Amino acid sequence: MRIRFLGGTGEVGRSAILVEGGGARVLLDYGVMLDDEPGFPMHVPPRELDAIVITHAHLDHSGAAPVFYIGRGVPIYATALTFELTELLLRDFINLSGYYIPFEFLELQNMLSRATYLPYGKPLRIKGMTIKLLRAGHIPGSAQVLVEADGKRLLYTGDINPVDTRLLKGADLDYGELDAIIIESTYADQDHPNRLEVERELVSRIEEVIEAGGTVLVPAFAVARAQEVACILTAHGFPYDVVMDGMARRVNLIFMNHLYELRDPDLFMSAMDDILLVVKRRDRKRFVKRPCVIISPAGMLKGGPAAYYAMRLAGSSKNAIFLVSYQIPGTPGYELLENKIYVVNGKVQEVKAQVERFDLSSHAGMSDLHSILAKLEGSPRVFVVHGAEGNCERLAMWARDELGLEAIAPEAGSTFSI
Ligand SMILES: [Zn+2]
Ligand SMILES: [Zn+2]
Repeated sequence: MRIRFLGGTGEVGRSAILVEGGGARVLLDYGVMLDDEPGFPMHVPPRELDAIVITHAHLDHSGAAPVFYIGRGVPIYATALTFELTELLLRDFINLSGYYIPFEFLELQNMLSRATYLPYGKPLRIKGMTIKLLRAGHIPGSAQVLVEADGKRLLYTGDINPVDTRLLKGADLDYGELDAIIIESTYADQDHPNRLEVERELVSRIEEVIEAGGTVLVPAFAVARAQEVACILTAHGFPYDVVMDGMARRVNLIFMNHLYELRDPDLFMSAMDDILLVVKRRDRKRFVKRPCVIISPAGMLKGGPAAYYAMRLAGSSKNAIFLVSYQIPGTPGYELLENKIYVVNGKVQEVKAQVERFDLSSHAGMSDLHSILAKLEGSPRVFVVHGAEGNCERLAMWARDELGLEAIAPEAGSTFSI
């Protein structure tokens, strides 16, 4: 079996891996690097591919795939939920970044017309290769990919979270004996705090602000994080109004059609019953004046209704903006957290509102990554990807030093045989 890394090496973004074995050539993920100008993985001619498998909807794993559908394209596989979420995110991406990307809605349509839903655990045969999806615990619909060919077994984690969240059960780590693993390393340098304690802290801080007459904004990614926050509030018996706005509302409907994918469908449905949806623009003006919590994209305040709410709420110390995801340096969310300023349309606004961050990550933390590797059966080769600032190398070194495994952080364009 041969593995070629096309992107996502030493960086978080444009994940893309080409696997050859059993006479088949299959691409695992084909994402973009989300920057002011999107970056793409290395190219592969579509005629050389037998199939594409997408682990999950996030654009750093799916966002470049439509480039293969300028012509006839290639069969593409993922869970049904991943396809629905990918369509939503790719439409938004084309709307926002269309000028910079080499495909249009037509190519997205072509791609979806070649889509086959692949349920978890069901073997897919492509020539002499067998592919199986395992639950990844990262976002609803997300999968790890087990590839078997030429008597070898390779596992690609995609983005993985072994810890239970309100939306999902932790990842399935029952791999059996492996010859190689390709593992993400987003948080190879830090552990996440105890999940339940973070939940309690978040809920009680929101309650404090509301009880003192303020309004709380929780900027959250439309896919999964917004719904996770809503479920946390419901699970803790949160007694005040919860408002949801932006693309998160569309994602709610998609999740409702795939309730069986969620860890606790009853909790999710009662969270959905508990929220007030923003229907008209003028609702926004009404909600910012009232003690409540507003959950809205974008998670780093780069646009979306959250940008409007932040502008309206930032000026008063009664209000709060509680961030619930990692903030990339340079984003308005990062400036808010680090420098207590809010930059909108180039104008700098002083922030009096309370600003805090709560770690509700959906990626494995350092110890989680270590224990995934420590529990592996066989003595697989380890390829570490999807990490910035030395995290790939850091995890590879740990696997070499602590477990005696042959482990590396590959470079883009490098090829390995196992
Ligand atoms: Zn992801
Ligand atoms: Zn990712």
